[in-house]
Amino acid sequence: MSNYREIKEECYEANLLLPEYKLIDLTFGNVSIADTSRRVFAIKPSGVDYTRMRAEDMVVVDFEGKTVEGSFRPSSDTPTHRRLFQAFQDIRAIVHTHSRNAVAFAQAGREIPCLGTTHADYFYGSVPVTRMMRTEEIQSDYEWETGNVIVERFGLLDPTQVCAVLVHSHGPFAWGPSGTKAIENALALEIVAEIAMKTIQLNSIVGPIAPRVAGQAFPTPARRRSVLRSTLSQHQSR
Ligand SMILES: [Zn+2]
Repeated sequence: MSNYREIKEECYEANLLLPEYKLIDLTFGNVSIADTSRRVFAIKPSGVDYTRMRAEDMVVVDFEGKTVEGSFRPSSDTPTHRRLFQAFQDIRAIVHTHSRNAVAFAQAGREIPCLGTTHADYFYGSVPVTRMMRTEEIQSDYEWETGNVIVERFGLLDPTQVCAVLVHSHGPFAWGPSGTKAIENALALEIVAEIAMKTIQLNSIVGPIAPRVAGQAFPTPARRRSVLRSTLSQHQSR
């Protein structure tokens, strides 16, 4: 019997939502769920196919990096998740994907500007992009250093207000207070990236909307949920 059954099950359920919402291609993605009081998190095992994965296969790692439960190796991105859980104490779940439109912004080294109320409903201002990583960072411990450049980028930002980031030349990380909410934020990120790209194609000199409008757009959770539900149903009916 696992001591970590609840976070493993939440982690498993959230990981299954990645292919369901078409947020990943192949196995480029993972979700982790933390028990912050015990300073541990459950994360997807490395290289295990989504169709064969079970809740008991989730690997539990402590905030110092030691595997405390699991027969598989944790995802190769585990050091990034660990660094973020250490630094952002108010988040419980982290989602990493290579969703295509968000990756395109990351590879271009461009933040996603807040061009309208769809974006403002989920993200307070632009979704930031990290600086390009240095050669020594890439060659030493890439995944850990990825966490470090995210933490560096959030020096003046509140991760509970801006719940996603683009890692330069790589892709997005999103987070939230639960697996479901973090997945919702990762999906919202991909949607606003796609909308922003099309908007910029139509009008290359478009600018961000005024902060006052951004801050006041659809502020209530009920409104957020209704926007997401209608978007999800459009996705699923494609
Ligand atoms: Zn990745």
